[in-house]
Amino acid sequence: MLSAGATTVAGGLALGASGTGALAQAAGVPESWDEEADVVIIGTGFAGLAAAYEVKKAGASVVLLEKMRVPGGNSIICGGLMAAAGMPGQEAEDSADKLYDDMMQAGLHLNHPPLVRIVSERSGDTAQWLIDAFGVEFQGQMHLGGHSVPRSMALAAGSGSGIVVPQLAKLKDMGVEPRTRTLLKNIVRDADGRVQGVVVHEGHDAREPDSGTPKTIRATRAVVLATGGFGNDLAFRQLQDPRLDADYDSTNQPGATAEALREALNIGATPVQPSWIQLGPWASPDERGFGIAPLFVVNATGANALWVHAETGKRFVNELADRKTRADAMIAAGNKTVAFIDQAGLDSIRDKPGVKVEALLERGVLSQFETLEEMAAAHGMPSAALNETVESYNAAVAAGEDPEFGRYIAEDQLPMGDGPYLRGTLGAEDPPHDGRYRHRRQGHCAGHPQRRADPGAVRRRRGDGRRAWCLAPGVLRDHRLPRFRADRRAERRGRGRLSDARQTPPLCPGAP
Ligand SMILES: Cc1cc2nc3c(=O)[nH]c(=O)nc-3n(C[C@H](O)[C@H](O)[C@H](O)COP(=O)(O)OP(=O)(O)OC[C@H]3O[C@@H](n4cnc5c(N)ncnc54)[C@H](O)[C@@H]3O)c2cc1C
Repeated sequence: MLSAGATTVAGGLALGASGTGALAQAAGVPESWDEEADVVIIGTGFAGLAAAYEVKKAGASVVLLEKMRVPGGNSIICGGLMAAAGMPGQEAEDSADKLYDDMMQAGLHLNHPPLVRIVSERSGDTAQWLIDAFGVEFQGQMHLGGHSVPRSMALAAGSGSGIVVPQLAKLKDMGVEPRTRTLLKNIVRDADGRVQGVVVHEGHDAREPDSGTPKTIRATRAVVLATGGFGNDLAFRQLQDPRLDADYDSTNQPGATAEALREALNIGATPVQPSWIQLGPWASPDERGFGIAPLFVVNATGANALWVHAETGKRFVNELADRKTRADAMIAAGNKTVAFIDQAGLDSIRDKPGVKVEALLERGVLSQFETLEEMAAAHGMPSAALNETVESYNAAVAAGEDPEFGRYIAEDQLPMGDGPYLRGTLGAEDPPHDGRYRHRRQGHCAGHPQRRADPGAVRRRRGDGRRAWCLAPGVLRDHRLPRFRADRRAERRGRGRLSDARQTPPLCPGAP
């Protein structure tokens, strides 16, 4: 949030809009403004919609802007999995401290501890807030990589639309509708470097960077930047991480570009670690974009799956490790890795939201084998080694501990049993006719076909934790908005102005 007249915080960014940044004045204050509102919110993903809801509820006027033709950003297309400690109906014994520890570990302890604390402590409340405020429907719980216990909730809708659509509906009832095709172009500040409003381009066409008609909007209280990630901004992402060239496919929506972030940088903002761009170890090289394989992979790892090297038949990683650990292990394994489940595993995931086994089989993303021997033969992996892997995993399940990789073994964990087995490729496709592994470069990561650029995340937290992060303002209202109202009253009495948001938690620190 860039507050009018105060240094404050934006979605994913600690933005100092004054201080030395004030020298980098981006756009002059117009003599008259075309429009005025208390709060101008840029972006209509989880973060922007959560902010709009709370601001409106606090009695302020809101202008909600979106550059694309449709609202929702990455939020509406995302997988819809949300980690929450103490979520409604959670079966596993869990606590905010456990989630905090998991996040810190997955973030290599480079995290910002106070922010991680907010997420871990408010995640359960945030899930409840989604249910209470918007009628969001969750369905099922699962154990995702990096979490020490099962604590991830799936949406009945099978994607983030299960949150965004009810958010939009609620806002409509409250009289707030996003204005689409409206691009944030400039942040306007006064001579002291204080944010006063924005220049937008109405009627914008995302294919033409400068298209649309300029318009100025004054924000009397705050400008909220909730503009998401930049996975589809090739130039910007390569500035951050030169490895991510055009061969890397992105799972992000086409509008996930960095012009708002650049503008924030222009006014002296300091984003937190934008170079830590998330690469997902679950996409399949057998389909483009996010596809439908990831929901199979994330569900399968939590159920009865094993991940093995496609040539050796040996496990190479804790299948429930955090995504970076797994992605690094896949690369170290030469991207020749597969995940497979048995019949019981299949039965346990078949009805989970978004798991489209038949479609995956039809598209050739999954293959079915009656026996382990058949699967081994398809890859040219030694059958004895694969059997040995299964035996040693089953011994770990029986013992309740996995000495090889330290994988979490649930109390009701089943051993790898009878087929048929379903196998999905993780880091490599089936050997083509020449017997070599084929890495699909077009639209994928060079040399890392299973990894997709998804700079909606930073290293500090796993993806399904980020949603609680983006939505946290909803449950932080008790802390933030009464102050907003109090400030407003004080301001009317001429005694002060909006609280400096440095004292309040940021809106969505997870989204660079
Ligand atoms: C394929 C995929 C699957 C994912 N799965 C999960 C998951 O299962 N669980 C999880 O927790 N997270 C998941 N994520 C990450 C999650 O989707 C994001 O962290 C989250 O949606 C970010 O929300 P946001 O509101 O910050 O940004 P977004 O939802 O991206 O919204 C930002 C909006 O701002 C708009 N915008 C940008 N610049 C401008 C501008 N200059 N002017 C006007 N508008 C602008 C964009 O068009 C966009 O609509 C996934 C991400 C992807 C891509």
